[in-house]
Amino acid sequence: MSRPKVLLIYTGGTIGMVADARTGALQAVNLDHLEEQVPELLHMGIALETVAFGTPIDSSDMHPEHWVRIASIIGERYADFDGFVVLHGSDTMAYTASALSFLLEGLAKPVVLTGSQLPLGTIRTDGKENLLTAIEIAAAKEDGAPMVAEVAVYFEYSLYRGNRTVKVHSERFEAFRSPNWPVLAEAGTHIRYDRAALLPRRAGPLKVHGRMDNSVAVISLFPGIRAGAVRAQLADPSLKAAVLQTFGSGNGPMDADFLEALREARKRGIVIVNVTQCAGGRVEQGRYKTSEAFGAMGVVSGQDLTTEAAITKLMFLLGQGLGQEEMARRMSGPLCGEMVQP
Ligand code: ASP
Repeated sequence: MSRPKVLLIYTGGTIGMVADARTGALQAVNLDHLEEQVPELLHMGIALETVAFGTPIDSSDMHPEHWVRIASIIGERYADFDGFVVLHGSDTMAYTASALSFLLEGLAKPVVLTGSQLPLGTIRTDGKENLLTAIEIAAAKEDGAPMVAEVAVYFEYSLYRGNRTVKVHSERFEAFRSPNWPVLAEAGTHIRYDRAALLPRRAGPLKVHGRMDNSVAVISLFPGIRAGAVRAQLADPSLKAAVLQTFGSGNGPMDADFLEALREARKRGIVIVNVTQCAGGRVEQGRYKTSEAFGAMGVVSGQDLTTEAAITKLMFLLGQGLGQEEMARRMSGPLCGEMVQP
């Protein structure tokens, strides 16, 4: 039987760092000799190939154009590999994972993002385990078909749905969670997959999209927020859509001036999506009086979308050049497991 093939796409981040033996300064790992850092790679029975971004970047420098580039690398090499591992800084990994889930329509193979809190070349690194298990998951099959057929994040013994993840800790190895979706797999002595949580395999070809439109804004509510500040944010002439981060189950102030600022934006065709500031749970517009006005002015309920998924989904749909109504319709239901079916 031939060995499974996995493509490693290195974008940057801490996981790709090693300390220079002489000076101790951190520098990018030489991908062509990754096995010098992680000799276990040679004994996995998996054929690995690597491709790297020209210049590795800290994930804080990620841009929608990078997401499109990663998606197109996967698209170009799709038929040649059983799975893909994207090495990425953890800071914006949840955004990239969400974006890739939308850009790779009809994905039927694993795309596993991973990274680390400590550089690969340090004694206590979490990068080694993350890397090895992510590769194993990307190569995993059942009855000849990929075990995972979606974009996922693997970090510290857990596999999460990519477009459901949020980074929850800046120091702990357990840096991610998916508050509104079960863990897809847990790695212990065995890797145990939760079949009910995984996306069903999709039939049909992969369609790689190549456009994201970043004409979006995020308005995060807080008690005392000024209507003028909201109005100023919405006045951006190139703005097409906004994510409104609300309280609890989708609530906000009933202040007339604040609501009028939103109404004016709606009249100008700005799509507004309501997501909760809570770490988990969902928006239910109209449950309280404090969210009734949102529904009435056509603010879309983002249900249990993460902010990361809401932003990238808006960029993706705007990139398709959809009109306001179609945008609202597509934002209201799931495209690839990112939100509940309302
Ligand atoms: N700042 C780094 C990044 O996101 C942190 C990490 O690699 O996890 O690129």
